[in-house]
Amino acid sequence: MQHTTAHPDRCAVPWGVCPDHGGTLRSSAGRSSWCTDLACLNTWNYDRLDAACPEKATHTVQAADGRYVVCTGHAIAARSQITDAQVLTGTPA
Ligand SMILES: [Zn+2]
Ligand SMILES: [Zn+2]
Repeated sequence: MQHTTAHPDRCAVPWGVCPDHGGTLRSSAGRSSWCTDLACLNTWNYDRLDAACPEKATHTVQAADGRYVVCTGHAIAARSQITDAQVLTGTPA
């Protein structure tokens, strides 16, 4: 696979979120990251905020600057953080 285009089934966001809670991550010195939701036990042994999102795309964000696919966590984050975007369930065919 030598394609230079992004994987259409992969989340397009170049930073990570909690897959369950969205934009709740904190990271420490680029070495680890964790979710700040009190009920969440997710932690990662790398700086997830500084890495491209590895999750599967499940939603589509229609924003002023275009349309891109995101994972469930990024859909949660987009709903709470981007006020001028529409978050749609599913990805473009
Ligand atoms: Zn979480
Ligand atoms: Zn994502």
